[in-house]
Amino acid sequence: MKLRNLRFLNTDAKKVTRSGWRLLRLPGAATAVLLATVMLVTGCGNESKLASSSSSAITDPAPAPNDDAQGETPSSGSSGTVAAIKNPSKPSKDKPSQQAWADPKSEMVLVNKKFALPDGYVPTDLVYPNVPFTFKEKIEKRKMRKEAASALEKLFAAAKKDKIYLAGVSAYRSEQTQIALFNRYVKRDGEAKAKTYSAVPGHSEHQTGLAIDVSGSNGRCAAEDCFGGTPEAKWLAAHVADYGFVIRYPKGKDSVTGYKYEPWHIRYVGEDIAKTVMSQGITLEEYYEVIPVSGK
Ligand SMILES: [Zn+2]
Repeated sequence: MKLRNLRFLNTDAKKVTRSGWRLLRLPGAATAVLLATVMLVTGCGNESKLASSSSSAITDPAPAPNDDAQGETPSSGSSGTVAAIKNPSKPSKDKPSQQAWADPKSEMVLVNKKFALPDGYVPTDLVYPNVPFTFKEKIEKRKMRKEAASALEKLFAAAKKDKIYLAGVSAYRSEQTQIALFNRYVKRDGEAKAKTYSAVPGHSEHQTGLAIDVSGSNGRCAAEDCFGGTPEAKWLAAHVADYGFVIRYPKGKDSVTGYKYEPWHIRYVGEDIAKTVMSQGITLEEYYEVIPVSGK
């Protein structure tokens, strides 16, 4: 299969080694601990709600038992299994080549639990989009790549015309930030557990500078399940594609994307792809015809 030739295709074993190595580099982060109650966080890495759980300590970094999404419809672990998508979208003649979506610098880049960005990847054209955020500080998570930032400004302006007032919650996240976040979760819950709800460093779409979590301007339900069904979420679903964004983790696609439904996480891919993906109700994985992260 062509996929195997991808330079940055990581096997689960490699991912573990890689994150394990990084863990060792950070002070105080190498110890996995036992905790009875954990915060259930989203793929975005935002803590969203409390959940009771008993997790076990990790003695040896083993391959992730479940490379799937957390949430309501977890599927059994079959990570690493290469299999074809059951219902791939109809291939179109002008579908981007694998080269395009494997290029970290391309707006088409595919980043998920199977495909990582290269070590130390930092976008070179990060800017501050001129839109409201749920916080005032001019910090990293306000940044996006230039083209995505410009598209976001147009998206927010269009929403405002429809009396939908949006705010950014979290956009760019550097590899270092993701490492710190992930290590925090590992320390609290153990690596295997952490991996079921937080992206392994290098695997977060936020590191591309092309993704952003969006909420209403009041910040209520920011990156939380209760955002689903709000007028803001409905508006986003109906209009993001016109500005080159997709709802990256649609409802019912957990086994394909590896994440539960996240109506707030939008990803810039350019207008053509966005319109196809959103109108067909599919995911980027299906559009590019790559294997679902669950391997099913
Ligand atoms: Zn997100």
